[in-house]
Amino acid sequence: MNMPEREQSRFEQFKTSGKLPSPTGVALTLMSMTQSEDVTITEVAKVVQADPALLGRVLKFANSPGIGARRSVATAFDGLSILGLAVVRQLALGLSIISNYSEGSCSGFDYRRFWSHSLAAGCASQLLCRSSKVLTPEDGFSCGMLSRVGRLALATLFPKEYGRLLGVADSSRDDFYQLERKSFATDHNELTAALLQDWKLPKIMVDAAYYQENPEAAPFEAGSRHYALVHQLHFAGLWALMCVSDDATRQAMLPRFFEHGQKLGLDKETLIGMDAELTHDWLEWGQVLNVPVQTLAPIAELEERALKTSYLAAAGYHSAARPPADSCSILIADNDAALVESVAAVLKKSHQVRTATSGEEALHALTDMNPDIVITDLTLPGMDAGEFLRSMRGLEGGSERYAIVTLADEDEHSVATAFEAGGNDYLVKPFNTRALEARVSAGRRIVTLKQEVKREMQEVHRYVKELATANQRWEEAAFTDILTGLPNRRYAMERLKQEWASAVRSNRPLSCLLVDIDYFKHVNDTYGHDGGDLVLHSVATVLKATLRTEDVICRVGGEEFLVICSDTSASAAADGVGKRLNKAVAEHIIASDAGFRARVTISIGVASRSATNTTIDALLKAADVAVYEAKKTGRNRVCLAK
Ligand code: GH3
Ligand code: MG
Ligand code: MG
Repeated sequence: MNMPEREQSRFEQFKTSGKLPSPTGVALTLMSMTQSEDVTITEVAKVVQADPALLGRVLKFANSPGIGARRSVATAFDGLSILGLAVVRQLALGLSIISNYSEGSCSGFDYRRFWSHSLAAGCASQLLCRSSKVLTPEDGFSCGMLSRVGRLALATLFPKEYGRLLGVADSSRDDFYQLERKSFATDHNELTAALLQDWKLPKIMVDAAYYQENPEAAPFEAGSRHYALVHQLHFAGLWALMCVSDDATRQAMLPRFFEHGQKLGLDKETLIGMDAELTHDWLEWGQVLNVPVQTLAPIAELEERALKTSYLAAAGYHSAARPPADSCSILIADNDAALVESVAAVLKKSHQVRTATSGEEALHALTDMNPDIVITDLTLPGMDAGEFLRSMRGLEGGSERYAIVTLADEDEHSVATAFEAGGNDYLVKPFNTRALEARVSAGRRIVTLKQEVKREMQEVHRYVKELATANQRWEEAAFTDILTGLPNRRYAMERLKQEWASAVRSNRPLSCLLVDIDYFKHVNDTYGHDGGDLVLHSVATVLKATLRTEDVICRVGGEEFLVICSDTSASAAADGVGKRLNKAVAEHIIASDAGFRARVTISIGVASRSATNTTIDALLKAADVAVYEAKKTGRNRVCLAK
């Protein structure tokens, strides 16, 4: 992977800003020293010796298993002879970056978690390389450790904006890099690759780091070293994420972990063993490098926990013993205490039963027990015929309850009253046990059905709610205009709000330019709508390319664009930025492969935060009036709001 020229020059720009994460001290010396061919181990050893932290790590590495030192290594010279210059240089680099960037000014960026994760990824990658031999374990360590450094770079280059972005979107999302691109015209993967390349790390590491988040998109041939490394790095990232997560999250990630491991040819047992090693390495390196780490429950234990939970759930065991599946709760109410007791005696065998001999007692039992089925006389002491049933239906959940009314006579009036009051079924006294059980069983089936429907409805509601939240999140993320690829109006307004607040806080100037393409209707009329779209896209590209990187440009209407220039006075925005845009657009010939050629001009209205423009609305209105002025006075020009 070679960086395209445009990205290269953007990276050079970042570099000259002096804000990119960069090595200092011994690491810097080593980096320049090892560029020269004739440097000797003795010379390098001297430099390493001068830095105790680096020396410690060189020795630790040289003495670690798998390196092959036959005796304990105790000097920088021996360590260097075993590890080689390149490895030592990488170690110095990592150490220097960690110590210089263990904290920073990007408030939304969790520096501690970043390093914790990076270190775990380094250790994981080292372990994986030990068995796959794609890289030497030490190279694997550096590669894993530094493979996310682009995120740190963005936090360092754009502390305010990156913090803001991290605040509105989840940085672990697969499409997060697209949001980065929109805001910074680069993304963390690109920056990682550029930095590793700049630090002269081997090309295979640069390439793999670039694609590690989405290995499927990498153009490497299956079976090649590149292919193996990029998948390995991806897995190391996932593994590291588990290290910095809590036990519940780790447990939830296990199936994915095993599945990915399988793809690398690592079975469950091997992975469980390797995880124990990783945990050990990570804790040890954490102490050496002063990076936060945590003691982890072994994966085998998490697995066991997961198995236990699913087994218990499948077997229907929960912490409290459950009644059998076809059991339900039944309230029996009648003024005849003997009848109540005999019915209860029959039903108690398979159901939970409660009894009442007065209306008041029965109502109390309803709220207390919340029964599935009620078996009641039409008239209870202290209440009129059917009054208890009507009261029951009025209570919360009352409509779902199944009511069997017991009647002294099967006369038409009694039956009608029973149903009118809300009964579902009736039984005429005296009734035998079989009739009672048959009615209760029918009632139970209906109650179960109703409960299932209710559960499903709740499930549907929950799903709809989740969908709404997801949609909202998606909309929040949908900051882009599809036709031009520029941020859209919503983004523009959000951004303007932020820039405005920041300008007010720091009492710095803020200007905006409203750009409108001249005679655009005519363009559409002449070239058709598709031609018009092509012109829009071209103008957007020219505008974007002509602006400074710190300016923000958005498409806010059909053929209208808004440029937000923070820290820029009205005259600088009009005479500097505006005129440049006018010239660039007017000189640009819009052409397509299909032989389409056109040229357009733009009119620009400039307004700034001022004593007259004290709100965002006033600012935009003033810019709009200024555009109108530019149109009126001949177009292809800039007008400054009065
Ligand atoms: P003026 O110099 O006064 O700005 O003249 P104008 O023709 O540009 O006038 P106006 O700004 O009112 O016209 C905007 C036109 O842009 C109207 C609409 O048909 C066209 N338009 C809006 N959105 C799109 C789009 O997405 N694609 C294309 N092709 N045309 C669009
Ligand atoms: Mg217009
Ligand atoms: Mg126009």
